Amino acid sequence: MLAPLRRRLHLSWVLRRARGRRREMTYIIAEPCIGVKDWACVDVCPVECIYEGDDQLYIHPEECIDCGACEPECPVTAIFEESAVPEQWKHYTPKNAQFFRDHPGISPAKGKGK
Ligand code: SF4
Ligand code: SF4
Repeated sequence: MLAPLRRRLHLSWVLRRARGRRREMTYIIAEPCIGVKDWACVDVCPVECIYEGDDQLYIHPEECIDCGACEPECPVTAIFEESAVPEQWKHYTPKNAQFFRDHPGISPAKGKGK
């Protein structure tokens, strides 16, 4: 059974989807994650929508509920809301989306010690 916070967040995500307000992309992980991948974001994500690639972690654009919990946890400031991705890392938005097209059925990353 979902914990109360997680249940609330999941409900808001379900409502947003039902209202047709889904976006192509939400939060983006950019270049600073490469070579770090310390899983701090995975540990706080309430819906397990962060996945591991060879070089970095990726946020699933349709599963992310835009809660923002991961953004301040990243020790290298790699996570941005889509509209706030710095110019030099704008190409990470399509890179994040492409990752999920290239890896259908991939399992979410597990936090440290899980
Ligand atoms: S904003 Fe971050 S913590 Fe929140 S659901 Fe999306 S990926 Fe997970
Ligand atoms: S917290 Fe930042 S550096 Fe760590 S895995 Fe997540 S995005 Fe990468």
